[in-house]
Amino acid sequence: MSKRSNTDEFADIRASVRALCAKFPGEYWRALDRERAYPSEFVKALTEGGYLAALIPEEFGGSGLGISAAAAILEEIHASGSNGAACHAQMYTMGTILRHGNAAQKEAYLPKIASGQLRLQAFGVTEPTSGTDTLSLRTTARREGDHYVINGQKIWTSRAEHSDLMLLLARTTPRDQARQRTDGLSVFLVDMRLAQSTSMTINPIRTMMNHATTQVFFDDLRVPADNLIGEEGQGFRYILSGMNAERILIASECIGDAKWFIAKATAYAQERVLFGRPIGKNQGVQFPIARAYAQMRAAELMVHEAARKYEEGRDIGPEANMAKLLAADASWAAADMCVQTHGGFGFAEEYDVERKFREARLYQVAPISTNMILAYLAEHVLGLPRSY
Ligand SMILES: Cc1cc2nc3c(=O)[nH]c(=O)nc-3n(C[C@H](O)[C@H](O)[C@H](O)COP(=O)(O)OP(=O)(O)OC[C@H]3O[C@@H](n4cnc5c(N)ncnc54)[C@H](O)[C@@H]3O)c2cc1C
Repeated sequence: MSKRSNTDEFADIRASVRALCAKFPGEYWRALDRERAYPSEFVKALTEGGYLAALIPEEFGGSGLGISAAAAILEEIHASGSNGAACHAQMYTMGTILRHGNAAQKEAYLPKIASGQLRLQAFGVTEPTSGTDTLSLRTTARREGDHYVINGQKIWTSRAEHSDLMLLLARTTPRDQARQRTDGLSVFLVDMRLAQSTSMTINPIRTMMNHATTQVFFDDLRVPADNLIGEEGQGFRYILSGMNAERILIASECIGDAKWFIAKATAYAQERVLFGRPIGKNQGVQFPIARAYAQMRAAELMVHEAARKYEEGRDIGPEANMAKLLAADASWAAADMCVQTHGGFGFAEEYDVERKFREARLYQVAPISTNMILAYLAEHVLGLPRSY
């Protein structure tokens, strides 16, 4: 795109990410999309480049960069037409260990996660019966001596087949015995390499877009008590505390997608000639592109605001949620505009537009759906009554 915003910030990182992504052009992603296959070479290249360890402190072998740098990496991946969903969790899921793990856990896992020797890509929160209502989840962890025994089921556990470790949220105290509504859930670091095939089953789910997501069943899975993160019963708080970072990073991917759609549409509007002139000469074609650009820039400001406040250690619940909402809307609006600009060719696989269109749709729903963000803003920012 010729008019890129904030070109100076993290210019070196952005340039090197773009150079890496140039080795993974549309043909690469199209072939994977057809087969619903995992982009192993792409993930390997990002790992070897150290990009997935951006947020891990230097003392544990990472780059010790701030969230803005990580956001720039993911944005560039998406602006290049690639997709970070295959590995973005490696960047931020470790934050739960970093913030709430004990010294031994940090020492044992973070350096290996930073080097890529261990992949912490799987995050098991959502369940089929509880969905968005996390406190109703039914997977249990029962203490037996120096182990916990896990039983239950997770759904949409993305990348479980491509991960060594899973961060798992399970109930350790029955809901009716918990002191507070949000007590009684605990977080475990599950080493999936050690799980016996009879105690953990992973079934892939084929989705609208190429996303390595799965259902995971636990049947008396034994996890050492040493793998409990933080205090038993406080897991819901630990998971919530990582969600602001996740929202900022996913929002950055959406901004990258929006930039890709806008660049793609702008180029096509210049080169497609009908009635003796480029279609981009028609206001009916150029105005939607201009509108998508303005919408993307406004969302980008909120993403930057959220990242800045996060780095200052401030409470950013509203900004992180608004960044995710606005960026997901901006990418989806740009996706729709891009299909329209391409006319029939927007539906042709070889243009990559239809693939990115399918990919962009996810962010209205995951990792948090638009409705839940609006409910948060209504209740916590505007003081309206809680709706659920
Ligand atoms: C491809 C993909 C990858 C994912 N990866 C992961 C992952 O790695 N780990 C993980 O734990 N989860 C993951 N998820 C789950 C994702 O976070 C959930 O799908 C999402 O939070 C919505 O939950 P749900 O699908 O159960 O919908 P539901 O909770 O069943 O909700 C259905 C609809 O009702 C709306 N709704 C529900 N309650 C209310 C209310 N009170 N007010 C207004 N509207 C409401 C929702 O917004 C939604 O539109 C993934 C999902 C997908 C599709």
